[in-house]
Amino acid sequence: MTLAERISDWVDAHEAELLRDIARIVAVPSVSGEPREGAPFGPGPRAALDEMLRLCAEYGFRTDIYHGAMGSADFSDAPAALDILAHLDVVGPGEGWDSDPYKAELRGGCLYGRGVDDDKGPAVMALYALRCLKELGVELTHGCRLLFGTDEENGSGDLHYYYDDHAPAPNTFTPDSGFPVYNVEKGTYRAAIERSWPAGDGGARVVSARGGFRINVVPAEAEAVITGLDAPGALALGGAAADKCGVELLAGDEPGGCRLLVRGRQAHAASPWDGCNAVTALLEVLAALPLGGAAWESVRALARLLPHGDWRGEAAGIAQADGLSGELTVSANILELDEGSLRLDCDARVPLCANEANCRAVFERALGEAGFAVSGEMEPGHHTPAGGEFVRTLLASYERFSGQKGECLSTGGGTYVHDIPGGVAFGASMPGFDTKLHGANERIRVADALAACKIFALAIAGVCK
Ligand SMILES: [Zn+2]
Repeated sequence: MTLAERISDWVDAHEAELLRDIARIVAVPSVSGEPREGAPFGPGPRAALDEMLRLCAEYGFRTDIYHGAMGSADFSDAPAALDILAHLDVVGPGEGWDSDPYKAELRGGCLYGRGVDDDKGPAVMALYALRCLKELGVELTHGCRLLFGTDEENGSGDLHYYYDDHAPAPNTFTPDSGFPVYNVEKGTYRAAIERSWPAGDGGARVVSARGGFRINVVPAEAEAVITGLDAPGALALGGAAADKCGVELLAGDEPGGCRLLVRGRQAHAASPWDGCNAVTALLEVLAALPLGGAAWESVRALARLLPHGDWRGEAAGIAQADGLSGELTVSANILELDEGSLRLDCDARVPLCANEANCRAVFERALGEAGFAVSGEMEPGHHTPAGGEFVRTLLASYERFSGQKGECLSTGGGTYVHDIPGGVAFGASMPGFDTKLHGANERIRVADALAACKIFALAIAGVCK
C-alpha cells in the first residue's frame, strides 16, 4: 500500500473520533473578552487553547503554551520544517441558528457549529493529520509544529507572543481559508479623508450625512439631511443619480428640508464589485442637487474623485494591477459629515506592484489638491512563490485527495500568515462550498473534513520527509 492509501484508510476509520474531537473544542465558547492574568484575549480563548493542548497531549504530542496567548504541539523533537498555524478564537454566534452554536450537530452530511470551519475544525483536522502519521509509524526527518492562536478575529494580536521569541519554520501554512493554495495577498491602504470649514452657511445645503459602520464593509445604507428642498423635490432632482448608481432613494420631509436615505448592497471591502456602495451613491445624489455651501462643495469634490462604481480608483489616479495579485480596489466605507467637518474612511486593497509613490502619494496629492487632508498607512502585500517545492507539495497532496486541479490563488483579504515569510493559506474548505463562516449555521461537509485530514497528512509527510 502506498502512504496515501494508508493515510486514507486511517482517516476513514477515525471519522467518528474526528467529529467528536471537533465538537469538544467547539463546546468551549471562545469569543474574545477582557484581558486577564494569563489570558490576554479573555478567558474564553484561553479555555479553548487549554482544551486543545489537552487533546494534543492525550494523543501523545508534546505541547507548550506561550503567555496564555498561543500554544503548540510537536510531531517530534526535530526542528520543524513546517508550522501549521490555526486559531481557536471565534466570532460571536449572532442570530438565526437552527441548533446550539456551541453544540456541534450532524445533519445531512454536514457538521454545524460556531468554529467548525473557522477555525477550530481545521485545527483539529491538522492534529488528526499528525496523529495519523504518528499512529501509522511514519518516520519524518524534520519536525512539524502545530501552532494555535487565540486572536485571529480581532487583528492577530496573539502572534507576537510566539514569534517575538521563535523564528517561523521555513514553511508555514494556515488552514484558515480555502483550498487549493492562497499564496498572494494584497496589501492594504486605509485612508481617512478629512476636511473642516467654518460653520454658518445658510441657504440650501447639506446639514449632515452619514453611512457605513466598519472600515472593511461596503455599506448598504447611508443618509443625509438637507435644507432648501422638500422630499418630492429631492426625489425629482436626485432620482436620476440614484438610478445611475443602481440604489434605492427614499426621502421624508423635515422642517426646512428633508432627510434622504440611500439603500445599496453590503459586501466585503476586498470584493467591492459584489456590493453597491450606499455612501458613494449618496455623495453622487447630493452632488446632483441644487445646493450650496462648503459641505456641498466638499461632497461634490468627493463624488468626482471617488465616483460610485469606480472601485479601481481610476478617478483618484491609483488604478493599477499586476499579473500575480490582480487589481487595486478601493471602497469608501464610512462617512461622517456635520455642519463644520467631514470624514470619509476608505479601504483600499493594493496589489504587489503598489508602493508609496504610485499609490499613497498619488492619492494624497489628488485629494489634497481638492482641499482634503489625508492620513493613513500602507501595509505591503504578501507573496510566497508558487513554483517552490513547498507549494508544489501542497498542491500535489490536494490533487491526490480532492480529484481537483490544484492552483495558486490571490486574495484581497489578509490571512493569518500575512506577516509570516514563506506562509500560505491552505484549506480547509473546498472550492465552491459555502461554509457560512461568521454567519448562522456555520458548517463543514464531513466528506471535506476527512479529505482535508488526508491532504494535510500527505502534505506534512512530503514537506517534512
Ligand atoms: Zn479564521
